[in-house]
Amino acid sequence: MTFSIHGLAVASGIAIGRAVLVASSRVDVAHYFIGGAQVAAEIDRVRTGRNAVVEEIHRLQANIAHMGPKEAPHELSALLDVHLMLLQDEALIEGVKHWIQDRLYNAEWALTTQLEVIARQFDEMEDEYLRERKVDLEQITEKILRAMRGVASPIAPLPSQMVRKPSQQDLLLDDIVDVPLILVAHDLSPADMLQFKQSVFAGFAIDVGGKTSHTAIVARSLDIPAVVGARLASQLVRQDDWVIVDGDAGVLVVDPSSIVLAEYGFKQRQGELERGRLSRLLRTPAVTMDGQKIELLANIELPEDAAGAINAGAVGVGLFRSEFLFMGRQGRLPNEEEQYRAYRHAVEGMQGLPVTIRTVDVGADKSLDDSIQNNAHLNPALGLRAIRWSLADPAMFVTQLRAILRAAVHGPVNLLIPMLVHASEIRQTFTLIDQARAELDQRGVAYGAVKIGAMIEIPAAALTIKVFLKYFDFLSIGTNDLIQYTLAIDRSDESVAHLYDPLHPAVLQLVALTIAECHAQGKPVSLCGEMAGDATLTRLLLGLGLRSFSMHPAQILAVKQEVLRADTGKLVKWAEQVMADDEPGLRIAEP
Ligand code: PEP
Ligand code: MG
Repeated sequence: MTFSIHGLAVASGIAIGRAVLVASSRVDVAHYFIGGAQVAAEIDRVRTGRNAVVEEIHRLQANIAHMGPKEAPHELSALLDVHLMLLQDEALIEGVKHWIQDRLYNAEWALTTQLEVIARQFDEMEDEYLRERKVDLEQITEKILRAMRGVASPIAPLPSQMVRKPSQQDLLLDDIVDVPLILVAHDLSPADMLQFKQSVFAGFAIDVGGKTSHTAIVARSLDIPAVVGARLASQLVRQDDWVIVDGDAGVLVVDPSSIVLAEYGFKQRQGELERGRLSRLLRTPAVTMDGQKIELLANIELPEDAAGAINAGAVGVGLFRSEFLFMGRQGRLPNEEEQYRAYRHAVEGMQGLPVTIRTVDVGADKSLDDSIQNNAHLNPALGLRAIRWSLADPAMFVTQLRAILRAAVHGPVNLLIPMLVHASEIRQTFTLIDQARAELDQRGVAYGAVKIGAMIEIPAAALTIKVFLKYFDFLSIGTNDLIQYTLAIDRSDESVAHLYDPLHPAVLQLVALTIAECHAQGKPVSLCGEMAGDATLTRLLLGLGLRSFSMHPAQILAVKQEVLRADTGKLVKWAEQVMADDEPGLRIAEP
């Protein structure tokens, strides 16, 4: 039966495929397609893993047979019996075989997929005792996965290639794997989401998150249709269901009828045609009808993204979110050399165009490691985040600064500091930048000149903009946080997502004020929040005087199209009227 789930539109486009339910705790399990020739070996790996766990339980049973009831209570042997029974259950083994043989999933992926299928059946059981056996099932799966780690796959990918697309050869072996796959999960951290770059997945649907949560931002950067805040999607969708992700409307259609499928197939082709049309603008300079040159820059998360930025026609990187280099490393931070290589890679990848590297911005919804709870009982968005975190650990911060300064030898680099609000923080930051230079001088290591800028993403910073302009060479408006902190709306909380409004008059006033002050003092100002890549807002931002936009590479051409059609002279007055409105959102459609 067809039904739809409404969430928030994150990355536009339509994806049609089969659902792959991935438990949030299992994204670190490798997901890749195997070749037909590896089927037997992969089934064997699971069987060997399972046998190892069965033997371990037999050994334990033999040991506890000699113990008294104090050391080995009856519950323990009953639990081991349950585990043995689950391990020998045909549904587990046959299901795993099916995913490997018919879908060419690698062994770990097949095992966790089947776990999800059976767990769902347990959830639906009436008997509470049986329902609780799901925990045992998860435990034995964990044990099999652990045992399998000792039996390497002959084709296991490197960790950085956790999820790879099927090779042409794989596809020829069995065209069943040609069916697009849609990842459905309850929650994914931004770092988890990043693992899905170059992935097998054609679309994403996630239960939680707001439009500008960092997970959503990374999903958008993958340029694959995605919906977040889809509430119960991971419970309502079943493994292997046919689903449609409508990334424009923020809707997930489950088990679509043939009429619905045909309609979305048509929409999908229209979208592809539109992309084709836009691609003709790739080499066209971004100049408005009245001759204003507009700078269209890229936001990137990883050094390798520089290639995508160049291909999309970006004239530089306006925001390199360096924190992604720090995440998912079990607390071990990248050293100076590792960071230097990463920044240099991005700088060289941009072939002489400027790269704005933002110092680490962890905290709030970006934790370093999923296992590290970010003081969840407090309010992390107002806590030790971004520059506050950096200033609390000067040695870590100076290490990053040295690496960025060294990368500046290889091309133009701008250094961007997030979340500043106090003059004292600004001064401390500059002291540490001087210290980083002095340490490099002492070591005799070369470094380059950098322009230094601040993010304006807290209302207090916008209101005291003159202080910032005394110190900094340029400013960059981070509207994602500026909206969050102005309206007191957690950007990652889908339950208040309807109140997260980029067009609230207070937000527009703070943006306008920042742009106007920068112009008055002849300092460059850019906007690098998600508003910059929203083509429906391009004319308004041009009307407010913005001339530099930084966004996901995939959004550049749609924004450029708006720039080419705009006459900034006419937009200024209109923008003033929009800003003066009680509800500017209602006016925005009018030119
Ligand atoms: C912003 O806040 O607008 C911004 C660009 O930074 P981030 O999304 O990484 O917080
Ligand atoms: Mg921010």
